Amino acid sequence: MDEFELIARYFRTARLERAGEASATVLGIGDDAAVLQPAAGQQLVVSTDTLVEGVHFPKEGPAAELGYRALAVAVSDLAAMAASPLGFTLALTLPQATPCWLQAFSSGLADAARDAGINLIGGDTTRGPLNIGVTVLGQVPAGQALTRSGARPGDLLCVGGNLGDGAAGLDVVLGNQLPVGLPMAAQDYLYQRFWRPMPQLALGQRLRGVASAGLDVSDGLLADAAHIASASGVRLLINGPQLPMSDALRSWSERQRLDWMLRGGDDYVLLFTLPRAARRWLEQWRAAGLAVSVIGEVQGGKGVQLDLGLGPQNVDGPAGYQHFRSTDD
Ligand code: ADP
Ligand code: MG
Repeated sequence: MDEFELIARYFRTARLERAGEASATVLGIGDDAAVLQPAAGQQLVVSTDTLVEGVHFPKEGPAAELGYRALAVAVSDLAAMAASPLGFTLALTLPQATPCWLQAFSSGLADAARDAGINLIGGDTTRGPLNIGVTVLGQVPAGQALTRSGARPGDLLCVGGNLGDGAAGLDVVLGNQLPVGLPMAAQDYLYQRFWRPMPQLALGQRLRGVASAGLDVSDGLLADAAHIASASGVRLLINGPQLPMSDALRSWSERQRLDWMLRGGDDYVLLFTLPRAARRWLEQWRAAGLAVSVIGEVQGGKGVQLDLGLGPQNVDGPAGYQHFRSTDD
């Protein structure tokens, strides 16, 4: 199978090329470059993510899940910018062209494209160690992209969904020792949460012109909160007891759960700040089925503080990191 046959068979497919709105794609796969038409008054939003075997996902990961995850994590960056999807490109480096692997990869990728409503518009295919690069393009009304830098003292700190599922899911995926009595349904749920993140596009778009700052939680709550704090020049206070957690985590020790919620990555929920004057939106979003929680507030100062019930503690120094680090329990 040569490169062109491979592209035609696995990527130039209806499920991938027409997963979302057709209107923006003037010219898709097949020419030297794609041509897109953003809507009038919109700005272009672009982000790239690369997945490397053994670094970003376990070796020999299931191909369909790799395809899903590669696109979903990239789309999450569009959600974090409050953008709507326009299209994506795929830079795929493969050790060999194995039809069943490619079929499964293409099918998982197409599932993610369908869920996000985003069309594959081009890419590049080369031979080498497995490496999956996805560039997503989106659009946002001029001036309304959600950045990390607009948080102001007094704003509420909010999160768009449960924390810790991604990290617990990785334990399930890796086949690590699981707690006795962990229900099979919880195991399945967590496995899915690692391989099939759910980028919060709908929430992101609702945050336009309302939230003051935001990003998606990919490195862990504390690390990502620190990004908002430093970009905005403020301090974030996180209230531990308010952190939202799924029932699937209940079989683990409280210490392990807290560590995953604070430090585990891979959740891909939005973390954002909301001026108090806009807090009435929380009810509307909840009524629309979006699981938003208030988990703290923005204060003057810098860094991130965590209150686990004993008063605020700094978490940004190395000592703070150790303090909250669960070791080998
Ligand atoms: P060129 O040599 O002009 O760079 P290529 O031969 O690399 O073009 O690719 C031919 C066409 O196939 C282009 O439209 C390119 O965007 C598309 N393409 C290549 N690889 C992929 C892929 N993995 N997924 C989707 N489209 C691809
Ligand atoms: Mg060319």
